Amino acid sequence: MTAKIDRFLADVRPPTPFVVIDRDVVRDNYLALRRWLPLAQVFYAVKANPAPEIVSLLVDLGSSFDVASRNEIDLCLEVGADPARVSFGNTIKKKADIAYAYDKGVRLYAFDSEAELLKLAEAAPGSRVFCRILMTCDGAEWPLSRKFGCEVDMARDLLIKARDLGLDPYGVSFHVGSQQTDLGQWDIAVGKTAMLFSALNEAGIELKMINLGGGFPARYRSDVPTIDRYADAVMHAMTNHFGNSLPGMIIEPGRSLVGDAGVLEAEVVLISRKGYADTVRWVYLDVGKFSGLAETMDEAIKYRVHTDRDGDATGPVALAGPTCDSVDILYEKAGYEMPLTLEVGDRVRFMATGAYTTSYSAVNFNGFEPLKAYFV
Ligand SMILES: *Cc1c(COP(=O)(O)O)cnc(C)c1O
Repeated sequence: MTAKIDRFLADVRPPTPFVVIDRDVVRDNYLALRRWLPLAQVFYAVKANPAPEIVSLLVDLGSSFDVASRNEIDLCLEVGADPARVSFGNTIKKKADIAYAYDKGVRLYAFDSEAELLKLAEAAPGSRVFCRILMTCDGAEWPLSRKFGCEVDMARDLLIKARDLGLDPYGVSFHVGSQQTDLGQWDIAVGKTAMLFSALNEAGIELKMINLGGGFPARYRSDVPTIDRYADAVMHAMTNHFGNSLPGMIIEPGRSLVGDAGVLEAEVVLISRKGYADTVRWVYLDVGKFSGLAETMDEAIKYRVHTDRDGDATGPVALAGPTCDSVDILYEKAGYEMPLTLEVGDRVRFMATGAYTTSYSAVNFNGFEPLKAYFV
C-alpha cells in the first residue's frame, strides 16, 4: 500500500466497492522494465486496465500499445498515441476492424491462421505482420491455453505466404501465460522462435522482430521473483538462442505494469455459518466475480486480503460476492482466513487489483453498479 493510497482510503472514503490506483506505481513499473530490459520496446497491453488516466500516462512516458479492438485503438489515439506505436495484437479480428485500424494508420498486426492472414492482406495491404506461436503456458496462474497461436511448422508456411500476399513478414510472437511463475518458460519460447527465424532465413525471409508477450507478474498471495530476475531470464534466453545477432524485441506487459498499482476496497455485507457445527464462516462482500474480481475464477488469482482487524486471531472463511449467482464465490478452497472479530460493515481491502478488475466488471448484473475507479 502506498502512502498516497493510504491517505485516499483514510480521508476520502468513497462508498464501496471501488479500486484506487496510484499512477506513480505504474510509472515506476514502466521505468523499471525499461531499465532492466533496455533493448525491448514496451507495448502496454491495454486490456489490463484501459483507463485513459493510465494510457495517457504511458503515452507521456513513450510507451507503445498492444490493442485488441476498435475501441482500444480509439482510446490510445484519443489520448495522443501515435498510430505507428500501436500493435493490433488480437489474432481474432473482423475484416472491417482491420480496415478501420489501417485507415487510422496502424501498420503492425498479429495473426495465427491462414484465414486471418487473408483478411490482413486485403484490409491492411503491405503492413508488418507477426505470427503467434502456440505455447503450453505451464507455470502460469492465468494460462492462455490453445486458443492462441499455431505450431511452428504452420507459422513458417504462413510467414512465407504473408510475403507472397504482399505483406511484410516481420516477426514472431508468443505469450507464455499470464502471471507466469516459471522463469524457464521464456527459454523454451525463444528457442522455438529462433528455430523459426532460421527456417525462414532458408526461405529467403529475414524476420526482424520477436514479440515476447506478457506474463510478468504482480504480487498476489505467493511471492514472485523480482522483475530484474524476469529480465535476466529473458535476456539469457535471447543470447542463448540468437547469440550476437539479436532481433528487435517487443514486450507486452499488462499485469506487471498496473497490477500492483491498485487497491480494491469492499465492505462486509453478511457473515454467516451454514450449520451449528460449521467452523467456516461465509463472508459476503459487496464485490464479487461480476464487479471486478473475475480472475478469482477457479480460485486462480489469489489476492492478498486485509482488514483493519489484522493481527486479531483468525479462522477459516469462504469469501463470496453479493449477487444471486452461485458462481459468485471468490474463495472456498484456497484456505483463506480472516479475523474472528470481523463484523458486518467492516471494510476489506484486496491488494494488487490494478489489473484485470475494472475492465472485467459487469455493467448491471443484478442491478449492482460496475466497479468505480479513482486515480491518485
Ligand atoms: C493479455 C495480453 C498481454 C498481457 O499479458 P500480461 O500477462 O497481463 O502481461 C500481452 N499480450 C497479449 C497478446 C495479450 O493478449
